[in-house]
Amino acid sequence: MILCPLNLLDSRAVIGDLGWIAYPKNGWEEIGEVDENYSPIHTYQVCKVMENNQNNWLQTNWILNEGAQRVFIELKFTLRDCNSLPGGLGTCKETFNMYYFESDDEEGRNVRESQYTKIDTIAADESFTELDLGDRVMKLNTEVRDVGPLSKKGFYLAFQDVGACIALVSVRVYYKKCPSVIRNLALFPDTITGADSSQLLEVSGSCVNNSVADEPPRMHCSAEGEWLVPIGKCMCQAGFEEKNNTCQVCRPGFFRASTQSLACSKCPPHSYTHRDASTACVCEDGYFRRDSDPPNMACTRPPSAPRSAISNVNETSVFLEWLSPADTGGRKDLTYNIICKKCSTDSQLCEECGNHGRYLPQQTGLSNTSVMVVDLLAHTNYTFEVEVVNGVSLLAKLPRQFVTLNVTTNQAAPSPISIVKKGKTTKNSIGVSWQEPDRPNGIILEYEIKYFEKGQETSYTIIKSKDTEITADGLKPASVYIFQIRARTAAGYGGFSRRFEFETSPFLAASSDQSQVPIIAVSVTVGVILLAVVTGFLLSGRRCGYSKAKQDPEEEKMHFHNGHIKLPGVRTYIDPHTYEDPNQAVHEFAKEIDASCITIERVIGAGEFGEVCSGRLKLPGKREIPVAIKTLKAGYTDKQRRDFLGEASIMGQFDHPNIIHLEGVVTKSKPVMIVTEYMENGSLDTFLKKNDGQFTVIQLVGMLRGIASGMRYLSDMGFVHRDLAARNTLVNSNLVCKVSDFGLSRILEDDPEAAYTTRGGKIPIRWTAPEAIAFRKFTSASDVWSYGIVMWEVMSYGERPYWEMSNQDVIKAVEEGYRLPGPMDCPAALYQLMMDCWQKDRNSRPKFEEIVSILDKLIRNPSSLKTLINASNRVSNILVEHGSLGNCVFKSVDEWLEAIKMDRYTEHFMENGYNSVDAVAQMTADDLRRVGVNLAGHQKKIISSIQEMRVQMLNGTVPV
Ligand code: AMP
Repeated sequence: MILCPLNLLDSRAVIGDLGWIAYPKNGWEEIGEVDENYSPIHTYQVCKVMENNQNNWLQTNWILNEGAQRVFIELKFTLRDCNSLPGGLGTCKETFNMYYFESDDEEGRNVRESQYTKIDTIAADESFTELDLGDRVMKLNTEVRDVGPLSKKGFYLAFQDVGACIALVSVRVYYKKCPSVIRNLALFPDTITGADSSQLLEVSGSCVNNSVADEPPRMHCSAEGEWLVPIGKCMCQAGFEEKNNTCQVCRPGFFRASTQSLACSKCPPHSYTHRDASTACVCEDGYFRRDSDPPNMACTRPPSAPRSAISNVNETSVFLEWLSPADTGGRKDLTYNIICKKCSTDSQLCEECGNHGRYLPQQTGLSNTSVMVVDLLAHTNYTFEVEVVNGVSLLAKLPRQFVTLNVTTNQAAPSPISIVKKGKTTKNSIGVSWQEPDRPNGIILEYEIKYFEKGQETSYTIIKSKDTEITADGLKPASVYIFQIRARTAAGYGGFSRRFEFETSPFLAASSDQSQVPIIAVSVTVGVILLAVVTGFLLSGRRCGYSKAKQDPEEEKMHFHNGHIKLPGVRTYIDPHTYEDPNQAVHEFAKEIDASCITIERVIGAGEFGEVCSGRLKLPGKREIPVAIKTLKAGYTDKQRRDFLGEASIMGQFDHPNIIHLEGVVTKSKPVMIVTEYMENGSLDTFLKKNDGQFTVIQLVGMLRGIASGMRYLSDMGFVHRDLAARNTLVNSNLVCKVSDFGLSRILEDDPEAAYTTRGGKIPIRWTAPEAIAFRKFTSASDVWSYGIVMWEVMSYGERPYWEMSNQDVIKAVEEGYRLPGPMDCPAALYQLMMDCWQKDRNSRPKFEEIVSILDKLIRNPSSLKTLINASNRVSNILVEHGSLGNCVFKSVDEWLEAIKMDRYTEHFMENGYNSVDAVAQMTADDLRRVGVNLAGHQKKIISSIQEMRVQMLNGTVPV
């Protein structure tokens, strides 16, 4: 393809005489003709076919080659067929020759024949005859030849005829070039093709204005005048963009950051530029950009403070949770730092916490909106600042954004002792010393040292000591003894140390030293007693429910207590009934308060014996505190007074952050009162119902953890509660739950849930383990069952266990193995724990110790709570679905809404046409919003119920 031929000569375009030189004079002759447009046609012809030795030359004018090194010559001609010439055959030719001669100057007639160089012999593709002439058909031939390399300024062409009949109609001489072009923003100039017909000329391009070379741009110009093989390219500079092969400036308000960016872009939000050719936009006041932020990202600002921070205290651990800031500043890289300060109560002076407390998962750079702080000091006021930062907080130099939480840790038992060393040892004694626990969490009142001969675990000795060393004596020579030590503070015992093994000296060794006497030297070998107790149980024909081999020491203590054996060193609960004079019991365990220290403010509830009020207690030398005051109504009998104060005698023995704390009693004046700490949020069941759907799972688990911890303490003390239920648990303003309701006659008289059993006792059936209902076997294991029910109450926000089923149906269903279904949106791990608490075999139920540790693990690892039980699991194992949904028990929408306590929406449903169970089963969350259910908690509850309804519709009915 000829892209851009440039004519050096076109005989047709010449107006007037061509002026070519013919010699001899009678050879070539010019014939002036015109074409159909009356334009002149310069035709040279010669036809000396009858004569021998023809040598007719026709020489063109001097043709300037204009720098071309290779030129093309296009000839158009006609040629007479020799066969058609009568008698001319001997001399007639059908070809002619073409020559050229290069010269730098016009030489005119001076060029000699011998100076020419032959280009080619030209033959006709088609010749014509007389006949053709008659038809006026001219058979025009076109032949093109090229010549090169040319080295002089110009050249002549010559056509030599040697006896043919030729008419040379046109001669065109041209060369080719690659035309100037802009490719990839590089300008390539007009380029004349090379001298060689196969040559590719490499040409460098120059970058257009405001562009720069990425890689030097080059292209190749072919002999045919075509640009080939572009290499490299130019790109518009930053601040310019490519448009129509040029680089155009970015206007104000637009920018282009680099040569790699696509085009000018509008300044991102919160930034501007007033200049042309901007490579970046400037952030508005108060907005910032980090070096690492891409230039097309909006300018951002520091976040606002975190919101709605809450804390949940468990002994010396605090769980902090907050909501992300309302304004994130436009960034996603929010992190939180916790700043801890320890504050004195009165002076409000705070100091940095230093290295108190461990933070899980960490203290700074938190990406989640919660943190657990463990190992804080007990009974200490802390202020936590939850600070939020994002990527531009440092640039902004604004005040820190944080939310403050004031937290007071609870009492906590000391941490286990970790270092125990062997002291002086004889054949009959081993000296043992130890170090204070790492975290005493209070003043250590005493240590308890338990030891036994290796392999003889059931027969052990306990020593109590105020010192950090003792000598265990009366031991067998050359025998290994196991030692475990624990510390006690006002908060109770800490965990035992690990087991340390020490050996007495061999029999023959000298034994010079006297055994040391412990400071509080009480040492009792309990093996004999244990044997007596076990035998006693066996003789009485009743099984304890666990085998001796499986017994753990905690249970043993309880045992001894049940057998009225008070072991030295084990703090056990003492039943006030065992006191002949109940007044003595009260005064042993409860402080007498002068009525003048109490101000009653208002009535908050009704107890069995009289009103329950809130008020304030101001003891001399102490701060005034809010309290709850239970009163004994006038006209009471002696028994009533005894029973009323019995609760104080029990409560006064306990000292634990999750057990309601007794401040004291008023018995010396009337009315008789029991004063306890005030729990702002009242009883747990009412509180949950009031706040349906309002808590995070972690908060709920935190509450459950507290209750389990209180119950662990009670079971450690050998106290069986018998009526653990959400209604008997109180909640304070920090969401800390405390076990309450210790009245002696509480189950018989006080609890409206209690019902008479066939054996005559009155029992809160729905909360009580089957063995306790069937044969009054109340143990810590039956308390664990009740705890499982409390878990269910908590996770379902105060739903009534087994709904409206009758007590008889509940007993029957539970006996048959049916259990409550998992509450809506209940984490699978929690439901599993409930189900474990409801094991028929009470020995298979977890101990409170284990429950606390399982809940702690869940709290530390909140992602383990993400797996929820699904709808089909929820219905598969229960089967007391009397009050349940979908099971076609509900014939109408209002009945269903009432059952799920959402009947406030009945009218909304009806007005919007959802008046059949079938229609409701099709509803989506959007439908719910349309109907007017706007609270997220309610939407969740209804949707969950609808899903269950669908499952049940699919599965058919569920057995009742
Ligand atoms: P009780 O006789 O212990 O069941 O108490 C009756 C009601 O009084 C409870 O359900 C609570 O609502 C309220 N109450 C009892 N003790 C307290 C307390 N320490 N703090 C706040 N409210 C209490």
